[in-house]
Amino acid sequence: TAPGAPLKVAVIGAGPSGFYAASRILQLLPASSDLGSRVKVDMYERLPTPYGLVRYGVAPDHPEVKNCQHKFDELASDSRFNFFGNVSVGTEPPSLSRDRLSSYAYPHALHIPLPDVAAHYNALIFTYGASLSNPLASVSGSTSTDSPLGNVYPALAFVGWYNGHPAFADLNPDLSTIKDVDVVGQGNVALDVARILLSPLSALDKSDLPQNILDALAKSNVERVRAVGRRGPAQVAFTTKELREMVKLGVNFSGVDAGLMTQAKEMAKGDRPRTRMLGLMDTSVDVPGGKTFELAFLRSPVAFLPDASNNVRGVEWAINELVESERGMIARATDARETSVAQMVIESVGYRSEPIDGPSAIAPFDEKKGRLNNDGGRVLDNEGHVNGAYAAGWVARGPVGVIASTMQDAYGLVEALLEDYGEGWPDRPKGSPIPVMPEAGVPEAIERGLKDGTVVDIPRWLRIDAAERELGKKTGREEREKFRTVEEMLEVLG
Ligand code: FAD
Repeated sequence: TAPGAPLKVAVIGAGPSGFYAASRILQLLPASSDLGSRVKVDMYERLPTPYGLVRYGVAPDHPEVKNCQHKFDELASDSRFNFFGNVSVGTEPPSLSRDRLSSYAYPHALHIPLPDVAAHYNALIFTYGASLSNPLASVSGSTSTDSPLGNVYPALAFVGWYNGHPAFADLNPDLSTIKDVDVVGQGNVALDVARILLSPLSALDKSDLPQNILDALAKSNVERVRAVGRRGPAQVAFTTKELREMVKLGVNFSGVDAGLMTQAKEMAKGDRPRTRMLGLMDTSVDVPGGKTFELAFLRSPVAFLPDASNNVRGVEWAINELVESERGMIARATDARETSVAQMVIESVGYRSEPIDGPSAIAPFDEKKGRLNNDGGRVLDNEGHVNGAYAAGWVARGPVGVIASTMQDAYGLVEALLEDYGEGWPDRPKGSPIPVMPEAGVPEAIERGLKDGTVVDIPRWLRIDAAERELGKKTGREEREKFRTVEEMLEVLG
């Protein structure tokens, strides 16, 4: 790279991986250093608000997990960093699936094609996460079919709703009509959903759950939540910590069928954490008159069953057996079936990413793996590394891993980026979609949006943040009262 060449980085997606990547670059290249004085990091986010799933996914009763928001405050004071919120980069969110809710097209956002962004930077970091839910396409009545039943929700939407994500503001499930809930899946998200539905309100009123959600929960008649897995107790995806929290919640929990447990303990022999988890699963808690949490195993949904109003009334399950395979123990359906009673079903079978730029030369997407094609954070096309393109977090690794893992990804990626930059961006072909010498300034659309107020920069976000805190004070909330819609956020800005 020519001496004096700038390092202009666009980070796309303001979740934890974006923040960790941006802050790592600025930390490794202090402003007082030669290169540090030539670095610019601009972060693009399609919501007016930063933090991604830390604000809109992580359970509201886990405020300690949200501490990484402080990174933003640190970054916000570095003049080399910009935040461009309310800007959706790439092709407009297509209705890729009938998730119902992921087809929300961010109507208030500025939409800007990826190449328009790329022209102004010599490095792009994709950290745009996983905004769709995995389909249960073969299950009739599921949200990924043409005729979804009422009161069936993907966990992504349900979690988004209770966390106040603007795309899910209209979900409004009527919990007063619900007694039994089946959650399909046994990951940490399934347990989050169960905990929120079963927690006494007093355990939630210090959280940042919006007031309308607390009101909806206050009217709830949910008595029983069941998390159903396709495999056995030895294969659950949630952690001991998450199960312990559930067991300590003060709900009835009747443990696991003895036969299944014996088999599971045999499988987990030598695996201490798993054995400890099974020990915990083997306990039972009796709270007379209390709500109930249940775990069910070796069941895969076949059909969600409708009542007369086309709301779900139950689930038909295939009963599975465990079979050994190269991939470990897998579930195989037998011919046996059973039916459960549930007036609400949450499909909690994982999230997935989407391509940001169609069949892109800059952001090649691996449809099979459901993530950007990358090797250790370097984005790859058929020819090898797309020089200048990097990825971290859920869009790079697939929708697995906690915040700490996104930090590891981001740190690794920044190392790769600085190595490539130090080597003068080797092999970047002429006419590469990501230039070695970027155009000055920011894309014209951003300049306009900054002037007309569509783009939410740091001072504007700080105004929204302050208004939420102020509203929280008025309604007696500990931290804030989140705005439910983008209109409400933009209204604060006048
Ligand atoms: P995200 O956090 O999803 O951020 C991506 C950002 O990109 C979003 O803000 C999105 O709006 C934005 N974006 C998307 N598309 C575009 C676009 N086209 N243009 C501009 N911006 C775009 N981890 C823990 O450590 N502890 C927990 O307790 C925990 N609980 C969780 C609970 C739930 C329900 C879920 C779903 C996850 C939980 N996680 C938890 C995992 C954690 O949230 C993730 O590891 C982490 O958020 C992934 O970060 P990310 O930056 O890759 O993606």
